[in-house]
Amino acid sequence: MRKIAIYGKGGIGKSTTSANVCAALADNDYKVLQIGCDPKHDSTRTIVGDFIPTVLDIWTDSEREGFDITRSMVLFNGYKNISAIEAGGPEPGVGCAGRGIIRTMDILENLNIFEEEYDFVLYDVLGDVVCGGFAKPIQSGYATEIYIVTSGEFMALYAANNIAIAVEKVGKSRGVKLGGIICNSRNVDQEFELVSEFASRINSQMIHFVKRDQLIQKCERLAKTVVEKEGNSEAANGYRVLAQKIVGNNHFAIPAPLFFQELVDLCEKYTT
Ligand code: ADP
Ligand code: SF4
Ligand code: MG
Repeated sequence: MRKIAIYGKGGIGKSTTSANVCAALADNDYKVLQIGCDPKHDSTRTIVGDFIPTVLDIWTDSEREGFDITRSMVLFNGYKNISAIEAGGPEPGVGCAGRGIIRTMDILENLNIFEEEYDFVLYDVLGDVVCGGFAKPIQSGYATEIYIVTSGEFMALYAANNIAIAVEKVGKSRGVKLGGIICNSRNVDQEFELVSEFASRINSQMIHFVKRDQLIQKCERLAKTVVEKEGNSEAANGYRVLAQKIVGNNHFAIPAPLFFQELVDLCEKYTT
C-alpha cells in the first residue's frame, strides 16, 4: 500500500490535484482511498459528486445521541469505486482542527479502515499551519510519501518550505520522505524555472507542472474531476501523466529546506 500525503497552502489546488490523481489511478484499476484532512471538507466532493458527512460531525452526533459509529457512516464511494472520507473540522471559533485530525485517525483505526487492501491512500492536508495536528498523518506513519503542491507565488513557496521543514524534522525518525513538488501554475513570471530550482535546492524534484486551465474550474462547478467529465482534455491528460509519475516515482528524499533569506533571494532571482 502506498501511503501518500498531499500538502500545500490553502487554495493552492491540493484537493483538485488529489481528486484528479485518484481518478486517474482508479481509471488504471488501482484501489484508492482519499482522506480529506482540511476543515473545508470539500476534498472528495468532485470524486463523490457531493459533500459527504464528516467524521467529526458524525462523532459529535454519536457523543450526543449515544450511538456507535459504523464504516458506512464515514466511508463513501465515488467515481470508479474510489473510497472517500472527510475528517471535517471543529465548530467555527471553537476547538482545534489539528486535534480533530488526531481524533479522526483514531476513529478510522477503530473501524479497521486501514485493513482494507488499498493500493493507494491519499491524504489531502492543509499546510498553512504545520502544527502537531496537521502533521499527524506524517508523525504517526499514516503517510510516508509526501508531495507538496505550490505555485511560483511567494506565499505558496513559503508554505511549501515550511512543510519541507516539518518533513525534514519528522522524516528521519519516521521513514517519511518527500516525493516531489507539484507546481500548480498561477501563470507567475518564470514559474517553471522558479519552482524547478526551488525543488532541486531543497533536495527534491518538480515532479510535474500542472497548467492553469479553466476547464478544471468548470468541472468543479459540476462537482466532477476533469478526468471523469472531460477525459479527453489536455488537463485530464496532465493529471494522468502526474499519476503515472507518482506510480513510477523513485526519487524520495529527506528535504533540505531553505532559510527564509534564501527563499527571498530565489524569488527575486526570477522576478523581472
Ligand atoms: P485547496 O484544496 O488547496 O484549498 P482547491 O483544490 O480547492 O485548493 O483549488 C482552489 C481553486 O483553484 C478551485 O476553485 C480549483 O478549481 C482551482 N484550481 C486548482 N487547480 C487549478 C488549475 N490548474 N487551473 C485552474 N484552476 C485550478
Ligand atoms: Fe490546533 Fe494547530 Fe490550530 Fe493550534 S494551529 S489550534 S494546534 S490546528
Ligand atoms: Mg482542499
